[in-house]
Order: sequence, then C-alpha cells, then structure tokens
Amino acid sequence: MAKQKFKTEVSRLLHLIVHSLYSHPEVFLRELVSNASDALDRLKYLTLTDDGFKGFAFVPCIDISFDQKDKSWLAITDSGLGMNADELAKNLGTIANSGTQQFVESLGDQNLDDTNLIGQFGVGFYSVFMVADKVEVLSRKAGEETAFKWISDGQGSFSVEEATSERSGTTVKLFLSERGKEFANRWQIESIIKKYSNHIPFPIYLHYEEVKSEGEEGEKKEKREQKVEQINTASALWRKPKNKIKDEDYNEFYRTISHDTEDPLHFVHTKAEGALEYTTLFYIPKKAPFDLFFVNYRPGVKLYVKRVFITDDEKELLPTYLRFAHGIIDSEDLPLNISREMLQENQVLQNIRNASIKKILGELETMAKNTAAKYEEFYKQFGVCLKEGVYQDFGNREALLELLRYKSTTEKGLTSLKGYKERMAGEQKAIYYITGASEEKLRNSPLLETYKERGLEVLIMDDEIDELVAPVIGRYQDVELKSVGRSGTAEDLKTEEDNEKEKKISPLLKKIKKILGDEVKDVRASTRLSDSPSCIVTDDNDPTIQMQHIFKALGQKDMPEVKPILEINPNHGIVKKLAGTEDKELSEDISRLLFEQALIVEGAELANPADFAKRLNRVIDKSLKKRKS
Ligand code: ADP
Repeated sequence: MAKQKFKTEVSRLLHLIVHSLYSHPEVFLRELVSNASDALDRLKYLTLTDDGFKGFAFVPCIDISFDQKDKSWLAITDSGLGMNADELAKNLGTIANSGTQQFVESLGDQNLDDTNLIGQFGVGFYSVFMVADKVEVLSRKAGEETAFKWISDGQGSFSVEEATSERSGTTVKLFLSERGKEFANRWQIESIIKKYSNHIPFPIYLHYEEVKSEGEEGEKKEKREQKVEQINTASALWRKPKNKIKDEDYNEFYRTISHDTEDPLHFVHTKAEGALEYTTLFYIPKKAPFDLFFVNYRPGVKLYVKRVFITDDEKELLPTYLRFAHGIIDSEDLPLNISREMLQENQVLQNIRNASIKKILGELETMAKNTAAKYEEFYKQFGVCLKEGVYQDFGNREALLELLRYKSTTEKGLTSLKGYKERMAGEQKAIYYITGASEEKLRNSPLLETYKERGLEVLIMDDEIDELVAPVIGRYQDVELKSVGRSGTAEDLKTEEDNEKEKKISPLLKKIKKILGDEVKDVRASTRLSDSPSCIVTDDNDPTIQMQHIFKALGQKDMPEVKPILEINPNHGIVKKLAGTEDKELSEDISRLLFEQALIVEGAELANPADFAKRLNRVIDKSLKKRKS
C-alpha cells in the first residue's frame, strides 16, 4: 500500500516527543500496556453484551517478549479488540484525542524545551518513537478474518499493508534505537510494569530465556530455556479491602489511570453498601493538567459495572468543576449494556454522582481543617475549579463557600470567608472585596484608601473568574459581600461630615460633569479616598470594566455601553484649589486629568492618549511658569 502522511499535528507531536521527552522514555511501556488494556476492556464488554460475540473464545492477556541476545526489538501483544486497516490509519495516523491535539496546537511556536508542561501530558502511542527507529503494528480485528500491518519510522509517514495473524488482537513491535536498547531487559521491563501497570486488571506475561550452563568444568555448555512469568498483580485494586491496600499500591494505580508521573496529592476510597452498592476511588493530582481549561478536556473518571469497564469518556460522571479528579466508579446496580443516553438520565448513576460530589468536597474540607498546607497546595492548582463550582452547583453552595480562599489586605497567605467573618469588627456591615487582574495593582488601588485608613480588611480577588463568581456568592452566611469598586458600597461608611462636604463641593461636581459630558454616568463626592484626588467606580447595577472584558472575550457583541462614575475626593488639595481657580482652560484640563488618571489606575484604556498627553503638558507648563515668577 502507498505511503500515507501523518497529519500535521502528529508530525509536530513526534518532533516534540523526540526532542523534549527524553527525561522519561520508560513511559512508552505504560502507554502501550494501557492501550492494550483498553482494547481488552472493549472486547470483554462486547463478549458480555453483543450477541454477535456469544461463544467467542476470549482469553484476555498481554504478552511482552524481547530480543534478549541482540536487544534489537521488543513486542507487546494483546488479545483485545484489534483494528482493521482504516482504524490503523485513522487511530495511529491522527491524534485521536482532541485534547492532545489542542495542546499541540496551543504550543504554537513556543519553545519545545518547556519540559515542565510536557512532562504532565500523556503522549499515547507515539511515545514508542522515544525508544524505537521503526515500529510495526500487526492487528486483526475481533470478528474479522484479515489482518493488517502498520509500519512507520516516525519520520512523517506510515504505510498499511495486508498481513496474516492467527488470532485477533494487536502486536506492537518496536525496533529499538540505541537509546531504547536498555529496555530489552527482563528486570527493566518487570520494574516498569510494577511501577506503572501493576493493577491493570488483566495478566501481563513476560517471555524470556533462562540461560544455564551445564556440564563439567572445561566443557561447559550454555542451555537456553524459554520461560513465561506473570509480572503484574492483575486485580481490580479498588475491589480489595482497604486495609489490604498499601499507599504505594494506590499511587501506582493512580499513575496507571492518570498518565501522571508523580504521585497523587490525595485519594479517597469508598465502598457503599445498602440501598445502592458501589465502589468509588478518587484521586486528586498534585499538578493541574495541561487541558484543565480546554473545553475538550479529557474526563478523568472511568465507569465500571460489576468490574466491567464501560466508559472513560463520559463527562457527566462528575460535574465539570470537579474535572481535576481521577479515578473510578464501579456500580453493582447498573445494567452492563447501558447506553450513553441512558447513562445521563439514570437515577442510580445520579445518586452515585451526588454522593461522590459530597464525598470529594467533604474530603477537601477535612484536608483544609487538618492539613492546611496541603490544602493550600491543592487550592493553588485547582481553586479556580471550586469557584466555578460556586457558579454552577447551587446545591453544594454551602460546602463550596467553606472551601474558598482569598488573599487579603490584612492577612498573610490565604484566608477563608469564615476567617474573615470572625475577624470582622462589631459595626462592620459587609465583607469587602476588590477584583482585578493584578494583585499588585489591586493592593495599590485608591479604592482601598479609606479601608486601609479605617483598618477594614478587604479580600483581594485577582482571578479572572472572581469577577463573575463574587456577585454570585452574594452572601456568606448572613453577611453580604460588597465590591469596593461599586458606587453603593461606600454608603456604609458615610458620616454627617461627609454629607456636609458633599454639599459644599456640589457646584464643582456640576462643573466637572458639564466638562466630561456623556463620558461619565455621574460625578460624585467620594468617601473612599484619602491620598488620591479621584477614582472611578461602577454603578451597582452595571457590569464592571473587567466583566465587560470577559463578555467581549466570550464573543458577546452589542453590549450596551457602560459609563463609569467619577468620584472626587473633597479633602484633596488639588480638588480644593480647583474649586477656586478662575483660569477656564486650566480648570477644564484638570477636570479631565482627574478623570483620566482614575481610568489609568483602574487599568482602563484612554479613548485618546495623545490628547491626554497634550493636556498634561499644558498643565506642567503652567506650573513651571508659576514657579519661575
Ligand atoms: P489514546 O490516548 O486514545 O490511547 P493513543 O495514541 O495511545 O491515544 O492511541 C490512539 C488510538 O489507537 C487509541 O485510542 C485506540 O483506538 C487505538 N489503539 C492503540 N493501541 C491499540 C491496541 N493495542 N488495540 C486496539 N486499538 C489500539
């Protein structure tokens, strides 16, 4: 058959693998065993549910053999579902998993040496090219007569030709490169399998030769004997009693199902007996995977029914905000041949799902209480997901609110809402927060001046999602959350004196309003400023500037134009002098500059920066002239 080219993303991925992944070449074996195990799972499922496979002689196993003498090849055979010619070309010539594709695309022209990123990402079948110059995949699909062979040297093209095979299933034969030769070794293979694939629920057999010397001294003969040995435990780990499972077993199983090279941060293993019978084993990784924020993220939870694998591609097993969890759900009460549509409406599964959410959130709460540093590690990686949860999952709102953590103007590190509430002074009416993109900018924002002066704590919310989530939180227990960037928030702090001052500068406010015209919604006296002459805030009912950015980024057009409210500090020297100035041009320039500097501090764009510079220069010029005279 003619040569076929790899899809562009595959070529890129191959390049990436060969140039950047050498830190862990051993993962090729984990990837191949995991593919073999999936193929066995799928055939097992068919033999149990499809009448066409009734009586099919299915002996599930994975066999590994290698060239012990010359170390030139290594082969992995499974008795699984197999692939026909089309599937060989499609599955091994393109990237099956759209998340991986998106990842490769997102790298763009980035430096491929960014091993940090790449280390966390599963490379699948193509990892064979870390250790092989040439690969042959011989496969015969279960139920079909013809076998096919896929051949490639990983250099941009592959070919598929007809072949023969006695039984259905797949053999991947690697012609080892110089670098790969170390893997043609019995102990090496055994230790990698133990490390990554010990609890694959099918037996893995290693074929090797035992070399013995026989005969008398002087005329010794070498005798080679073929041996086969099962090198994995091959049990469904999650079905064993908890007290029979060591942490190392849990960790190894995690690495198998997650493709992570690190141990998990945490795991929770639950057996439910009673009205519903099921087992769940959930893991929380140490690091966020590359596709955490992709729409096409790969779900981490596999569904089993009575130990039979059903699917690993069902995003509804857990809500999207818990997509960081890996693990398995194994139910005794679902029918084996449950269809995808039925899954989503199935009451048994809904109940397991709800219990699982509670379990994971409960586990996080315990972690936060007992091992705060560990929780903080978790929160740095996945806190954003919990915020999404507040947005999505009203039913678990209370539990989620307890898990949120924020930076604060008065506390080191992160604080909970509970912690804030406990620190609130008697007369304080609300939990105050400020939102924006940069922590440093927020900490220096004029909007915080009065809060700092009065010793009031303000939460610093610098995640983009905070802008949307904070208003959804609304209240923590009986206390309202208020953004310091909102017009109404400072009303809490207003005194009689403030009202007096406002009255006094009201002619100036009117004058500025006239100058700025419809660029602002209103001009008001501020109670929140001490050092700055002005600031802008958003009307209580309008979306903030950052919200408008988010909506725009989400593709929302036709948004009504939202105008800011300009607040003027009646106590500030500039403002006092401005009220008395006769120079019309100067007072107009300064009024505009008060507005423009407030916009800049907020991170908003000026409509006309050149005009701003001209104005600024006129004012500087005048102030220099005065000094001279
Ligand atoms: P994935 O992450 O989907 O496993 P891979 O690159 O490892 O990505 O494999 C691509 C696809 O090739 C798999 O999804 C599967 O359909 C097919 N495949 C790979 N190995 C085997 C095998 N041993 N038996 C049957 N199909 C396989």
